[in-house]
Order: sequence, then structure tokens, then C-alpha cells
Amino acid sequence: MPGSREPAAGEVQVRNLWMSVDPYMRGRMDTNDSYVEPFKIGVALEGGAIGEVVSSNDPGFSPGDLVRSYRGWREGFNASGSELEKLEHLHFPPEAYLGATGMPGLTAYIGLTRIAKLRKDDVVFVTGAAGAVGSTAVQIAKACGHRVIGSAGGAEKIALLRKLGCDEVIDYKAEPDFEAALCRVAPQGIDVCFDNIGAEQLDAALAVARPHARFALCGAIYMYDMAPTRGPGNIWRAVDMQITLRGFICTDHLDLVPEFLSKMAEWYAADKIKLLDTVFEGIEYAPAAFLGLFEGRNTGKMLVRSDERCTKPSPSGWRLRRDRSTTGAPASPSSP
Ligand code: NDP
Repeated sequence: MPGSREPAAGEVQVRNLWMSVDPYMRGRMDTNDSYVEPFKIGVALEGGAIGEVVSSNDPGFSPGDLVRSYRGWREGFNASGSELEKLEHLHFPPEAYLGATGMPGLTAYIGLTRIAKLRKDDVVFVTGAAGAVGSTAVQIAKACGHRVIGSAGGAEKIALLRKLGCDEVIDYKAEPDFEAALCRVAPQGIDVCFDNIGAEQLDAALAVARPHARFALCGAIYMYDMAPTRGPGNIWRAVDMQITLRGFICTDHLDLVPEFLSKMAEWYAADKIKLLDTVFEGIEYAPAAFLGLFEGRNTGKMLVRSDERCTKPSPSGWRLRRDRSTTGAPASPSSP
């Protein structure tokens, strides 16, 4: 492991196994004001990671412990024990704690329950529905008994959404008029929009929203690589239909973590939640994984597996693994 050294007093030496790859990192590559500070040139990138303790000079950690940290994008590191969260008594495979049962899943739960305040019989529209946050939002809304419409790009993702239980699906890449497509599948309108994308999909959701609809504005990936543009041309619909549009950042709602994990364990045991990920094998493929988010190369959570014990990469450097949760069996920390 490059750069490794014996841990000093209070330090723990960690080898990363799994690294999270996230769209918000794009914002940190600009100097604009945002809720997270820009990355610094010459300093390693950061991001969520699951690692294994190699050696420890902190009595709270032992070799072999699994830890979650914010020190991704590197093979290993030394850190104070206070910067690490020990993962114990796992109900899910370790890498799920970066995906459906980690930050993206929590974001889905917050958006639906606290921001959109799901109510009985709501029709829920999820954009970016095959991604990490979106696929979890779809499954949570279905587990809560709602009618769910999901949008994503491409036939393969649409097939996946059907498998996850979406009642209606829209392949936005195949629809010349997204609003017409949403009207077609939601003739009575929608009550909740969980938006990851923005742009024409958000416009369309406003156009078909029922009175008093609630919009959880989670992301706007369509715009992350563009100069800022004007907002929805039909924003007047928010007045007309008394729609609530509320943006949110998951880190402001961490009080929901225990409730979220408990619900996810219940739904997972009942086979209502599948853990979906796309894995790039080898840290050298991390930039390709990041760019892949903006090219739609992932379903579920985009991950890089950086463990040196992983299998050799395929010639293209990546492989897809989906639907690995079907047994519902708790994972052993020694078998990631
Ligand atoms: P995803 O797993 O959804 O990955 C990105 C997906 O977005 C791609 O696979 C692609 O799917 C779609 N996409 C990319 N570019 C475009 C585009 N130009 N137009 C339409 N679709 C596009 O990422 P996450 O689930 O991690 O994040 C989803 C959203 O939630 C992001 O906007 C992210 O910034 C936001 N987020 C917000 C948080 C918060 O606290 N508010 C926390 C975490 C994430 P497809 O092939 O279907 O086009």
C-alpha cells in the first residue's frame, strides 16, 4: 500500500476496499460558492470509503475492523480514530453502506418522508430513477405502497425500473417530448416529484402536478456541467397549483439515520429493497467511473473497488454487478 507507515499514537492505518463516486464531486471542481468547499489542486480528492484497519495505535480499533471514512480516492491512509466510523453488526454487505444504506439511500428516505412528506395514495414521480438515490427512492416509495413513475435513459435501465416495481416508466432518451410522455403515463397527475435531474423533466413534472403537490429537489445533474441557466419557464404553476418546491441537503437531516437504517433492515429482510451497484475494479479506473456518472454508465450506486485482492479488471476495465441482494442474507465482514 503506497504511502503506508506505522500509525502514531491515536492513529489508525486503513486500507481502502470500496470508494464512493458521486455527482456532487463535480461541483467541488469549480470555484463557485457551494455547500461544500472546492477541491484543492495538488491535494488528494475526498469521498466516502469503506476500508479495513491494517494496524492501529488507537485502542478503539483492531486489525481487520471495517471502517467508513471520508478518505476515499486513495489506496490507504493513516487517520485519527475520531475520523473513522467502525462498521459493526452489519445487516448489509459493507459496500451497501456507501449506497442504498449509506448517504444516497438516506437522501432518498429524507426526500420522500421529510421533504415531500409522503401521504397515503400519493402518485410519486422519480427522475434519475435508475441511479443510486433514484433507485432507492423508487423502492422506498413502492415499499410504502405508492404508485411510482420512474424516468431513466435507455432500454436496459427501463427494464430494471420495471423489475424494481415501477408502475410506469419513461425512457427520456427515447421520448421526443418528455412532458407528453409524462402526461401519457400520469393522466391524473402527480402528487410528489423526487427530482435528481432538473431541466425538462422538472418542467414536465410542474406541468402535470396536482394541486398541493410536493417537490423534493435533490439534484440537478443535467446542469452540473453547464453555465447556470434560467429556471423552469412554467414556474408559475407552483403558484397556480400551490405546489411546494423544497431543496435539501442530506447532511442537514442526520437525525433520521437510526429510523432510516431500521426501516431499510425491515424492507431488506422482506425483499422489498435490492442493493444495486456498478463497480469499476481498480483505483486506476476511478476517473472513468466519475466521468461515467455523466454518461449514464451506472445503475444503482457507482463504486470503485480498490482492494488489491479484487479480481483482475476486464479488458474494458469495468464490470457490472446488479441485484446482488436477492438472498437477503446478512454479509459477513470478512467476505466483502
Ligand atoms: P446517479 O447514480 O443517479 O448517477 C448519475 C445518473 O444521472 C446517470 O447514471 C444518468 O442516468 C443520469 N444523468 C447524468 N447526466 C444526465 C443528464 N445530462 N440528463 C439526464 N440524466 C443524466 O447519482 P446519485 O444517485 O448519486 O445522485 C443523483 C442526484 O442526487 C444527483 O443530482 C446528485 O447530485 C444528487 N444528490 C443530492 C444529495 C442531496 O443531499 N441533496 C445527496 C446525494 C446526491 P441515465 O442513464 O438515466 O441518464
